[in-house]
Order: sequence, then C-alpha cells, then structure tokens
Amino acid sequence: MLKPGSTIGILGGGQLGRMLAVAAAQLGYRTHVLAPDEESVAAQTASSLTRADYHNKVVLADFVAACDVVTYEFENVDVTPVEWLAERLPVHPAPAALRVAQDRIAEKSFVEKVGGRPAPWAEVNCAADLTAALERIGCPAILKTTRFGYDGKGQVLIRDIAEAPAAFEAIGGPAVLEGFIHFSHEFSILIARGLDGRAVRYDPPHNVHRDAILRTSTLPAPPEIAAQAEEATALAIRIAEELGYVGVLACEFFATENGPVFNEMAPRVHNSGHWTIEGAETSQFENHIRAICGLPLGDTSLTGAHVQMENLIGDDAWESALTEKGAHLHLYGKGESRPGRKMGHITRVVR
Ligand code: AMP
Repeated sequence: MLKPGSTIGILGGGQLGRMLAVAAAQLGYRTHVLAPDEESVAAQTASSLTRADYHNKVVLADFVAACDVVTYEFENVDVTPVEWLAERLPVHPAPAALRVAQDRIAEKSFVEKVGGRPAPWAEVNCAADLTAALERIGCPAILKTTRFGYDGKGQVLIRDIAEAPAAFEAIGGPAVLEGFIHFSHEFSILIARGLDGRAVRYDPPHNVHRDAILRTSTLPAPPEIAAQAEEATALAIRIAEELGYVGVLACEFFATENGPVFNEMAPRVHNSGHWTIEGAETSQFENHIRAICGLPLGDTSLTGAHVQMENLIGDDAWESALTEKGAHLHLYGKGESRPGRKMGHITRVVR
C-alpha cells in the first residue's frame, strides 16, 4: 500500500486529471501533473505541475524522482515515455493497456481474441482497400483514423460506395472501416481492478451522444441495457485480467438485438463515469486512486433511485443548477468556451 502523503504522478492536464487530483487529495495523496499544454486545468487542483513535453528525458527523470506511482488521464500520450517511466517506477494501468487502446486495429484484434464482438471491421491503408472493405462490409459504414481519434474526431460516415474516395481523402491516413451498427442504445461498463486483482463494477449508464460527443449518462439503464450488462461486464473483466490491468477501465458498447457490440475502450477514468462522484458511494476517481495505491476498492452502489450526468458543452448554461435541488455542478476551470469543448457537467441525483 502506498502511504497517504505519497505523490501520484498524472500524465495529462485535462478535466479527468483535475478530478483525479481532487480524489487523491481527499485521501491525503499529493499529485504532480506533467502536461505540455498551455492551459492545464488539472494543475488547478493538483499539488504541482511540470509544463513540458513528454519526451524530455531530463523532465522525465525529475518526474520519476518526484513521484511514487504514475497514472495517465488520456490515452493519446505517446507510449514510449510511458514505457520509460514504467521501467523506473510503478505505472498503472500498465503501458500494454495504452498500446492496445491507442490503435483501433490492435484494440479490435485484442477484443476478438478475448471473446468480444466489435462491429465488422477492415484495415484501410489506401483507396483500393476502402473499396474492397465497403464491398465486403456494406454501406452505411464509418471510416475512422486508426489512432488519435476521440469524441467523433477523425471519423467519416459513408452512405454510398461513391463517397469512398472523398472519405479516404478526408481521413488521409491509416484507417479502419467499421460497419454501421443499428443499436437501440449505447452504454458503458466501468470497472476498477485493484493491485490484488480484485475488481468492482459500476452499474452501466445509458449514454446518449450528440454529434459524437457524450451528452448524458443515465441510471438505472433501461431493460435493453440491463439485459446485456452481464455479458459486457464479463468481457471488460476478461480484458482487464488479460492486460494485468490496475485502475479504472471503461468499455463502450452498443446494445443490439444480438447482444452487446464492443465499440471502444479507454484505459482511464471516463466521461460516462462522472455521475459516480455524487451518484455512487465511491466515485470512479477515488476507486482509481485506491487501485493504483493498493488500497481496498470502495462500494460502487448507487446513492439514489435515479442519477443523470449532463455534459456542459460550449456555451451551455449552468446557472440554474446552482439552485436546483439534487443538482451538483462541476465546472472545469477552462478559460475559453468553444463549440464542442467540454466545460463542465451537472449530476442530478434523485434519492
Ligand atoms: P467513437 O469515438 O468511436 O466512440 O464514436 C463516437 C460515436 O459515434 C459513438 O458513440 C456512436 O454514437 C457513433 N458510432 C461510432 N461507431 C459507430 C458504428 N460502428 N456504428 C454506429 N454508430 C457508431
């Protein structure tokens, strides 16, 4: 067990790091954020910040000296410095999880290997690959960049094979074609796995996206999701066990007539778990901190009969939440609102 008072290093300076730092502080840990960004909202709640590139070896050596354990709050950090850190101090989740989650092809192959079912997919490296893939998979389909996609960025919907050349040009590099899934609902499975291999699971939220960005996560989920939660959770646990995973793991699914279809995983705390701060006995952030520090994991039960998290995106209004019974407002301290930018969230708990 890592003693309270120890320092947790966090790679990444966004809102997930900000909320991790708050949870760490509650348990008496210090946090040290390493991020290159000009604006690091995680640094507003962390104990210290190093603003630098992840590849600077002098900085990394200082970071090793300052920290007792390292975690990351976004999955697009280059794996090379993370592996370098992992040779020198504990890094959770292990870089192997990052490698799988960063690359849609590695991720889908891995998930199939452990018995999961992603959408039909094909690797696309040139326009001819795309035509062949569309002939096999059919339209509509979605072309996604293999790496560095998030919140629907780097994705093009293809309705007709005639759109293939333009779609390939828009993506402009290694990609994966996915068959379009006609789902009834989207949901996510969040689990936390401790250093001792014991895992806890949260109830699955029903996630609604608009313009490929999460808008709301609602619990309890409707029966269509509840019926598929067991199978999806079993897959998430197999993924975590296979990777020797420590921390919170999020897996997103489509609920379909034929059962859960795996969409993607995030080797970190997740937006669809923000409701757990007030809506669960132990939040995803606290359980992540507990897991990476070797503490027993906390109860994940719901605190209310109904819980909903609503993202505040761009200029979304939040003022009325201040006086609304049962509403909990979180603002991320970002200087400038832009369309599509996550500025905060509101969680409503009905007891
Ligand atoms: P992603 O960034 O891959 O999670 O995609 C963002 C959103 O786009 C998802 O949450 C879905 O709403 C939608 N989407 C992604 N892939 C598919 C698919 N294969 N079929 C249908 N909808 C999808």
